[in-house]
Amino acid sequence: MPAPNNRYAFFNGAIVPIEQATVSVMTNALNYGTGCFEGIRGYWVPEEEQLLVFQLRAHMERLRRSCHILYMRLPYSVDELCAICIELLRREGFREDVYIRPLVYKSDPAIAVQMNGLTDAFTLFAVGFGQYIANSTVRACISSWRRIDDNIIPSRAKACGAYLNSALAKTEALLNGYDEAIVLGGDGQVSEASAANLFIARGGALITPPLTSDVLEGITRQVVAQLARDELGLNVVERPIDRTELYVADEAFFCGTGVEIKPIVEIDRRMIGNGQAGPIGSELARCYAQVVRGQLPAYRQWCTPVYE
Ligand code: PMP
Repeated sequence: MPAPNNRYAFFNGAIVPIEQATVSVMTNALNYGTGCFEGIRGYWVPEEEQLLVFQLRAHMERLRRSCHILYMRLPYSVDELCAICIELLRREGFREDVYIRPLVYKSDPAIAVQMNGLTDAFTLFAVGFGQYIANSTVRACISSWRRIDDNIIPSRAKACGAYLNSALAKTEALLNGYDEAIVLGGDGQVSEASAANLFIARGGALITPPLTSDVLEGITRQVVAQLARDELGLNVVERPIDRTELYVADEAFFCGTGVEIKPIVEIDRRMIGNGQAGPIGSELARCYAQVVRGQLPAYRQWCTPVYE
């Protein structure tokens, strides 16, 4: 893994050198996973000498919703969070694609397993970032781990502790020679990947599990659905997906801020479609790449420019 190349973080209310943005080993969130976060991408557009942050506001709104679910108090409005992010990126002066991490966490050095009565701290940093999964197509497996459900750790909150579930699924997949895990919910139906949502294509329609299938309410998932409908004229359906339906899908792909749109060409050693990136996923990936770099005027409002 490449070393992070950032110099600053927003920490305790100010932008400070990254070396100063440190916490105690007694920090409650480090011990118990009591926090929530976001993952946002910024895209460097050389022709414009501009860094464009994709869906900044939507991510900050989801961070607020995560806090609400988790009894956490975020001391900034969505507007203020967006402004902090832009200010930090300007200070860094990035001229490359970046990944931005806002984090709200219980900062007290407290042996206390609870969300109330503890201090909520906010930090944000950004690092230069390339591909989340290096391969251009993905071989996936069904994880032996089940997805956390809404009544265990709310899956629609992007909660720190919940990512132990993701890490276990991803680790198992990697150790078994796959690139990514697909995790089933407690009901045995398809939920999502370790850190991405999932679509399949069958008979020309695009299908994704509903928000009640213990998925994160993915922002890319929503973008993909809109692009599929408005740009490709596809029927997009939200409904439960059986495990074996994955095996017989014409196409399948992951989507998420980190993974972007990644075709799945094999699941549990069964070829998906003809074993290559399918036409729908490829067209959506092409369209998405243009959208995030501000090249399609209809969607330019999703991109926030960093530099004046
Ligand atoms: N599910 C999980 C568990 C994730 O971590 C992510 C990445 N944030 C996603 C789905 C995709 O969400 P988004 O498109 O908002 O990045």
